[in-house]
This record gives sequence, C-alpha cells and structure tokens, in this order.
Amino acid sequence: MSAVPLKNDKPVQAGVRTVTVLGATGSIGDSTMDLLRGAPGRYRVEALTANSNVAGLAKLAREFDARFVAIADAARFGELKDALAGSGIECGVGESAIIEAASRPTDWLMAAVSGAAGLKPALAAVDRGTTIALANKECLVCAGDFFMQRAVKAGACILPADSEHNALFQALSSGNRDELTRVIITASGGPFRTWAPADIEKATLAQALKHPNWSMGQKITIDSASMMNKGLEVIEAACLFALTPDEIDVLVHPQSIVHGMVEFSDRSVVAQLGTPDMRTPIAHCLGWPERIAGPAAKLDLAKIGQLTFEAPDFARFPALRLAYDALRTGNGATTVYNAANEIAVAAFIGEKIRFGAIARLVDATMNGWIRAGNLAPLGSADDAIAVDHNARNMAASLLPQIAAKAT
Ligand code: NAD
Ligand code: MG
Repeated sequence: MSAVPLKNDKPVQAGVRTVTVLGATGSIGDSTMDLLRGAPGRYRVEALTANSNVAGLAKLAREFDARFVAIADAARFGELKDALAGSGIECGVGESAIIEAASRPTDWLMAAVSGAAGLKPALAAVDRGTTIALANKECLVCAGDFFMQRAVKAGACILPADSEHNALFQALSSGNRDELTRVIITASGGPFRTWAPADIEKATLAQALKHPNWSMGQKITIDSASMMNKGLEVIEAACLFALTPDEIDVLVHPQSIVHGMVEFSDRSVVAQLGTPDMRTPIAHCLGWPERIAGPAAKLDLAKIGQLTFEAPDFARFPALRLAYDALRTGNGATTVYNAANEIAVAAFIGEKIRFGAIARLVDATMNGWIRAGNLAPLGSADDAIAVDHNARNMAASLLPQIAAKAT
C-alpha cells in the first residue's frame, strides 16, 4: 500500500474544492496561487501561511478571501493584524498557528514551507487524511519512512510536486509498481556544472544564486548549486516510492526538459518532459486525477534542438555521494544529512563558511554522528524531530573548525 497513488483511479471531485497553501509567499506558493487565480470559482482558500512576509501574506489573504492566515515570526503578529484589520480574516502566530492552518479541513493542501520547519505542519495535514501536494522535500528527508507510513495509516494521499518526482509519478502509471526496475531523476548541474574544483570552493553567494534554468527560493537554489538538492531528491524518491539506493540514478541534463524517467522490466523507459516551469507539476497535483489547463510555455523541441545528458561528477559535487551514503546507512542518517545541510546553507548565506565547506560540514556531521554511536532506528516521526534537533547542534558545534580549515 502506498500513500502516493499509483493509478489515476480516484473519482474526480465535483464542485468547489477547498485548499490551503503552507508557504504561500514563497516561490512554490507563488506558482500555486497563480494557478488558483487562473480558475476562479473552482477553489476556495481556507488558510495561507508564511514565515515573516506580512505584506505578501496579507495581500494574498485579501485577494483570495482566505478564512485563516498564520505567520511563523512572532514579532510580526501586530503588523499582520493591522494589515488584515476590517477584513474578517482570522489570524494566528507561531508554529502552533501554522499547524492549525494545516489542520483545518480542506480537500487539498500544498506543503511548500522551506526546510524541516515544514515537517510538523505537514504531519498535521497527513493526520487528517487529506490530499497533499508535497514540495517540501526536507520534511520527507527529515522524517524518512515515517512520513509515508503515517500517511498510509491516516489515508492521506501524497502527490509529489517536486518536478522530478512528479515526472516519476506520471511515468509510473504506465506500468505496475512491481514491474519497475529503476528510476532516473535529472539534474541541471546548476551554475557550477563545468567549474573547476578550486572555483567551486570559493564561489560567492551571488554566483550560487544564479541558477541556469529555474527560478526558485534562496535555499533550494544554493542546494542546486552544491547538488545537495539532487541528494535530497534521491532520498525523497526513496521515501516516496519505496526504492532502494540502487534503484535510483541521477543524470545531469543541462536543458531541464526531461524531468524524470521510469525504467520497467521490459526495458521500456517512460519519461515526462516539459519546459522548466514549476506550474506544470503543481497543476498536475492540483488537477489530479484530472488534467487541468497549465500556463507554462509550450515545449518546442525543434527550437531547443538538442537534449544532452552526462553522468554526475561525485568528486566535484560530494553532496550527492553523501546522500547515497546516508540512504545506505539508514538509522537516522538522512535526517542528519538534511539537518547539517540546513545549518551549512545558513552559514554560507551568513558568510561564515565558503561554498565548498557546505558539503564538508555535512560530511563531518554525518561522521561525527556515527562515531558518537548516535545511529539508531527511528521509531517515529518524533524521533526524527529529536535527531534533527541534535544533529543541528552537532553541525553548529563543528562549524568553527570547518570554517577555519584552509583548503
Ligand atoms: P521559498 O524560500 O521561496 O519559500 C518558502 C516559504 O516557506 C515562504 O512562504 C516562507 O515564508 C515559508 N517559511 C520559511 N520558513 C518557515 C518557517 N520556519 N515556518 C513557517 N514558514 C516558513 O522556498 P521555495 O523555493 O518555494 O521552496 C519551498 C519548498 O519546495 C522547499 O522545500 C523546496 O525544496 C521545495 N521545492 C521548491 C522548488 C522551486 O522551484 N522553488 C522546486 C521543487 C521543490
Ligand atoms: Mg526538483
């Protein structure tokens, strides 16, 4: 039994659908709101959430006449109340309010908070057995198998919104799960695909934020430059589709047109293609089990001319190798991998470490964790949250020595 539906066999829901968007002010949130805007009358917005962007959240809340909005940052609550004065829209503050937003009954929810901070709210949505479009890959990597197990138990339906996983989700329906032999997720290679190791080592924040194909939030853009994003996605694929590390391949594809492929036992490989625009996989999740109109540009392969593929370079991009190591190690190692990366990315943005030190901090934290004898089977999502907390502390304590180390 899988929480990701393997066939389009659910009846289409007629009438108005209620929706909630967690992380409404972000890049995925923006694309989601754009799709909702394009189908007036079909959706009613129940709740919207954000971290600290009061103006953006209040504007969306008024435009979509949301019933409830929640802001994580306690210092901004007064501002939010002022911005919504007279609207009749209820508002809340802090993590508990984000969880309340996720808990309110709706037909569909977009989980698009950035980082493991999205885990508890996503679990609240899981527990009410709703349909969840899951963009927030870190919450899955943090909780591992428990997220999916809890989803099965609650009868929640998880629709993969990450473009590669959405591609796999689409391709999978052309065979049976037991006929699958391998999946391939593509990676653009990011801005440093062709760079020499010494240049990658000292890449600046501005350089890391220049993604060649996708326009995304800051953290995922940095993760794409280090290929940590692809590492997270390998783990995400393992959790979503119950795959072993050997069943997941990564292929560098600089044009980002082919998003993912599934190989079946007869050696047929089924791929999903599209222009690199997140509104396509989000539209697939929003419409599912139907197809709805999507606003992305039409794919023009004649104009693109060439699609190229290359093997990933695990030496220049050690973050990807570390993801496979974490997956093979199990026992909370993927939780540690994600937690250490969140600390490393924040340190890089804060100019405390060099770009090359991001993967070194993740490596050092994973090694330190294993040497300290901390690996243990996770018994629940709460165990994963505790590991996440402790691994962040370990990464923060290793940070000064990683920052000081000359290369
Ligand atoms: P973003 O930084 O643009 O937006 C993040 C959203 O989460 C914002 O609304 C922000 O206010 C909210 N948020 C951040 N920290 C929070 C906290 N502690 N508590 C509550 N809310 C918080 O990020 P994004 O690019 O939209 O990515 C969101 C998620 O989707 C990430 O997990 C990312 O890996 C995944 N994803 C993004 C893309 C993309 O194209 N942007 C593609 C695939 C997957
Ligand atoms: Mg992706």
